[in-house]
Amino acid sequence: MDAKTIEIKSYPEMWESLGVNVERFEKMRCVMGDMYSKTFLMQDKRPAGMDYFDYTISEIHGARVAELVEAKKSKRPVVGTFCVFVPEEIIVAAGGICIGLCGGSQGPVPDAERILPRNICPMVKSAYGFKVAKVCPYFQAVDFVYGETTCDAKKKTWELLDREVPTYVMEIPQMKRERDKALWLEEVKDFKTTIEDKSGHAISADDLANAISLINGKRRALQRLNRLRSHTPAPISGKDGLLIEQIAFYDDPTRFTQKLNDLCDELEERVKSGFGVAPSSSPRIMVSGTPMALPNWKIHNIVETLGGVIVNEESCIGTRYFKDLIDEEGADMDRMLADLTDRYMKIDCSCFTPNNERIDQVIREYKESNAQGILHYCLQFCHTYNIEAVRLREACEKEGVPFLAVESDYSPEDVGQLQTRIEAFLEQIREA
Ligand code: SF4
Ligand code: SF4
Repeated sequence: MDAKTIEIKSYPEMWESLGVNVERFEKMRCVMGDMYSKTFLMQDKRPAGMDYFDYTISEIHGARVAELVEAKKSKRPVVGTFCVFVPEEIIVAAGGICIGLCGGSQGPVPDAERILPRNICPMVKSAYGFKVAKVCPYFQAVDFVYGETTCDAKKKTWELLDREVPTYVMEIPQMKRERDKALWLEEVKDFKTTIEDKSGHAISADDLANAISLINGKRRALQRLNRLRSHTPAPISGKDGLLIEQIAFYDDPTRFTQKLNDLCDELEERVKSGFGVAPSSSPRIMVSGTPMALPNWKIHNIVETLGGVIVNEESCIGTRYFKDLIDEEGADMDRMLADLTDRYMKIDCSCFTPNNERIDQVIREYKESNAQGILHYCLQFCHTYNIEAVRLREACEKEGVPFLAVESDYSPEDVGQLQTRIEAFLEQIREA
């Protein structure tokens, strides 16, 4: 692989067998390779451990998809998800594979807009567009999809998605009272039953204990990476940090954890010797808000091109995915399901009301990551994050934290305007 370019490998026969629109998908593949090369491979002082993650991108539509095809042959279910509330431990316990499906690309948005209203979240349009246009081998490979009722755009889209691929839905409570927690436990139990029915595999206590340990291990490795990013100078760029968090949603968890821990060993050496990817004087920015699904690298690219460095993502593709672990002391199924339910109820998505935990968590992460400013990122038409930004701004003003809120979509049209606002924000931090 050339140091400055990457080719995303082509597997037309496998794609054809999955029902992918190969001609259309070929064009998207080339665009993504070009975008990846310009965004990631041009960076200076990248850790050698990023080679593995570059490789996973070069094989994003090949080697990993082939693993899914093999799993399906041996009757292991491949389940697509769109939200960190869907418990992947239960899918893994049943011998299945959980794939966090992407919705971070502008490419299929016009396909979705032919059917869905235009004025809804781009993540929902992108994800739905991938399926109706048949331009995602992962979406074509999944046996079924598990959605949830976190927001209106998603829950109504699942009704339409069910016409394209079997789509099940979990009810996510929107408050955290005892009765809501009881409802969530029942939803988790129903989810387990459905996964068992679909896979033909009755989950034993040992299966679930092993799956909890495996996914906890992945979350621990991500926590370790995040702690390393809190050092000045930052040992790894925010773009690479985000990329790793995105890959966590589709890579094999055992392999991913091993490779990430190898990378963290390298970053520890960098921290010890004071070696960083950006000068110590670079403004350190924490991003907070809506998730950035692959290949949404827009904000990170702008911030780091302007000389800042992103040191934390308070997001579901970020700390909200890995900050909490499941207690591993549970010996029987009931206790493990209760512990799993507790862990998932700690997710502080803006769909909850009230959501004071998130306000406190953002300030805590800001301090722990040694950031110097918070950039609140909201996808267009995401009302819950957009409105919650009001309270976050107030909390930041009280704590004296520089705060900038931006709203964007996946199109390149607002890049110039975002650059101007972010440049002024970085300048404000430099002068403080
Ligand atoms: S932001 Fe909310 S709805 Fe979106 S993935 Fe996270 S928990 Fe799910
Ligand atoms: S970003 Fe907001 S609107 Fe979009 S899917 Fe997530 S919660 Fe729903």
